[in-house]
Amino acid sequence: MIEVVNLKKSYGSNTVLKDISEVVEKGQVICIIGPSGSGKSTFLRCLNVLEQPSDGKVYFEGNELTNISENELNILREKMGMVFQGFNLFPNMNVLENVKLAPMKVKNKTVAEAEKMATGLLEKVGLADKAKQFPSSLSGGQQQRVAIARALAMDPEVMLFDEPTSALDPEMVGEVLKVMRNLADSGMTMIVVTHEMGFAKEVADQVWFMADGYIQEIGTPEEFFKEPKTNRAKEFLDKIL
Ligand code: ADP
Ligand code: MG
Repeated sequence: MIEVVNLKKSYGSNTVLKDISEVVEKGQVICIIGPSGSGKSTFLRCLNVLEQPSDGKVYFEGNELTNISENELNILREKMGMVFQGFNLFPNMNVLENVKLAPMKVKNKTVAEAEKMATGLLEKVGLADKAKQFPSSLSGGQQQRVAIARALAMDPEVMLFDEPTSALDPEMVGEVLKVMRNLADSGMTMIVVTHEMGFAKEVADQVWFMADGYIQEIGTPEEFFKEPKTNRAKEFLDKIL
C-alpha cells in the first residue's frame, strides 16, 4: 500500500531522515516508536507529502506521490487520513458538522448522505449523543475521537496517527486507544507514532524503532520488546520501561 525508497529529509544542514526504505502492506498496523526528535513526525508527514522529501520516493497504491501534480496528490491524499496530537477541530462547528464537512465539500456527498455517514461514525467512536455539541464543550479524549471520526469520514485506505494521545490527560488515553484498537480490528491499515507501549504490544503487527534518522530495527512486538536487536533500542527501552 505504501512504499518508501531511499527517503531523505533535511532542514538546512539538519538531516532528519537519512535513508529510509520500507513497505507497509494493506491491513498492517505499524507502530513507530523512538526518542523525541528522531524524525517520527517528519517521516509521517513525508508519507503523504505534507512535507516534501529532500530525496527518495514515496509510493501509495502504486502511485509515486513524490512525482505527480498537486491536483493528483490532493486526490490521493484524501485516502490517507491523518490524526495529530492536537485535535484541530473547527471550533465554530458542532461535532456533526465537523465530521460531515469534508465528505460534502470534497466528495460531493449530499447533506443527507454525509449526515448519515457522520452519525454512523460518531456512534462508532461512542459519541452519538454529542453530535450537536461544540468542540469546546468536550473533553480532550472526546475531541480526539471526533477527530478520528472526521478522518474516517473521507473513507481512507490508511490512517496515520501522530501521537494521538500525547496531549491527553491520563484518564482519557484509554478511550482513544480503544477506538484505535477497534479500527485496527476492523482491518484498517494504520501507521501510529506512539509512546503507548501497551498499545504497540497488543495491536501492532510490526514495531518500527526509529532513531538518529534511520529505522534502526523492525520486529513483531514480541521480538522487539523482549529481545531488541540493536543497542540503540535497548537503551531506549531501558529508559522508558
Ligand atoms: P519526532 O516526531 O520524532 O519528535 P520530528 O520529526 O518532529 O521528531 O523532528 C525531527 C527533527 O527535525 C528535529 O530536530 C526538529 O527540530 C526538526 N524539524 C522538524 N520539523 C521541522 C521544520 N519544519 N523546520 C525545521 N526543522 C524541523
Ligand atoms: Mg513528533
